[in-house]
Amino acid sequence: MRIAVPTERAPGERRVALVPEIVAKFVKDGHTVAVERGAGNDAFYSDAAYAAAGAQVVDGDELYHGAEIVTRVAKPSDAEVDLIPRGATLIGFLSPLGDPRSVERYADHGLSAIAMELIPRTTLAQAMDALSSQASIAGYKAVLLAAAALPKYFPMLTTAAGTVKPARALIIGAGVAGLQAIGTARRLGAQVTGYDARAAVKEQVQSLGAKFLEIAGVEATGQGGYARELTAEEIAIQRAAMVKAIGASDVVVTTAAVPGRKAPVLVTAEAIAAMEAGSVIVDLAAETGGNSELTVAGKTVVSPNGVSIIGAVNLPATVPTHASQLYARNVQALITYLVRDGKLTLDPDDEIARGATIVRDGEIVHEPTRAALAAT
Ligand code: NAD
Repeated sequence: MRIAVPTERAPGERRVALVPEIVAKFVKDGHTVAVERGAGNDAFYSDAAYAAAGAQVVDGDELYHGAEIVTRVAKPSDAEVDLIPRGATLIGFLSPLGDPRSVERYADHGLSAIAMELIPRTTLAQAMDALSSQASIAGYKAVLLAAAALPKYFPMLTTAAGTVKPARALIIGAGVAGLQAIGTARRLGAQVTGYDARAAVKEQVQSLGAKFLEIAGVEATGQGGYARELTAEEIAIQRAAMVKAIGASDVVVTTAAVPGRKAPVLVTAEAIAAMEAGSVIVDLAAETGGNSELTVAGKTVVSPNGVSIIGAVNLPATVPTHASQLYARNVQALITYLVRDGKLTLDPDDEIARGATIVRDGEIVHEPTRAALAAT
């Protein structure tokens, strides 16, 4: 098959969908890979490295010529969609519910489309799980941002000038990003507490050497290992308990999300007011509304009492070399799984193909997207 890899053009997006290591694997399997000139520049993969891996490095519109698969990180612009040949399959973080109209355009163009964020979180699909590979990077980088912004050390240090106490870090939401944040904060020497509305993650938090914050009366395990939305009563209990825990922390990293919903507000203005001046909050849920009441996506806000609230946006793009490498491996695992007899096959009876396909041969097959379009 002919696989095209365009340059990502969204502001701040430094990742690339395939890296030379994976191009070489596709070429070895008999596929042709066309890479837009400069596509890997921001992630430090050179055109020469792609060419050495067997890719055709091409300019502009030539990229899409005869393309059967277009692999991307973020969704394409309308102009880019116009260039993709009918019958081709688009693969990327296509954010169908964030922009249902874009899905309609793929259908109008007679494309098929696979949203990486909809790949089922099953054991079989683990190697394709781009949400996890990228969330883990976000969790790591969030702690580095916090450490850089904090006017204190993270580790406890015993020096000739006396002892410095370790920073106290609270990680809220112990999913993929949160667990990586806990591990990273521990490695930097902070005293770490983890919290999640799913009590099942308590042991995972503790196994990383962190304490688990228990809030009685809140247990929100929902479908598929995700959290469900909390009731009004649970939210009240949680917020009240959080004021004390947040007030006692130098660093708070929030990662709490409920799929398909606005992020829950867990860090209230009251809790921020209870923190010491100079403390730092990094909100990984900034793009879906924020876990803190004062978060502004893409900005750092300083509260009246001197707490910095960092509204982190697309952190994986700030670690572009490894983020691209892991994403490319996820995409390769997916394509290899879906290719049958040399053709990409979006079999509705296959759990992974069914879960992630949003458009099949020009028809929108993702029910939530259809509902969102019907509602507009
Ligand atoms: P996510 O990004 O949807 O949410 C992050 C965390 O926020 C979750 O742990 C969630 O429980 C928590 N949260 C939501 N609302 C909250 C609230 N009000 N208060 C406190 N915490 C709240 O989740 P994710 O990181 O994508 O992963 C979710 C689950 O899926 C995890 O259990 C993870 O281990 C599991 N998972 C399984 C596989 C697999 O089996 N292949 C792969 C990836 C993830």
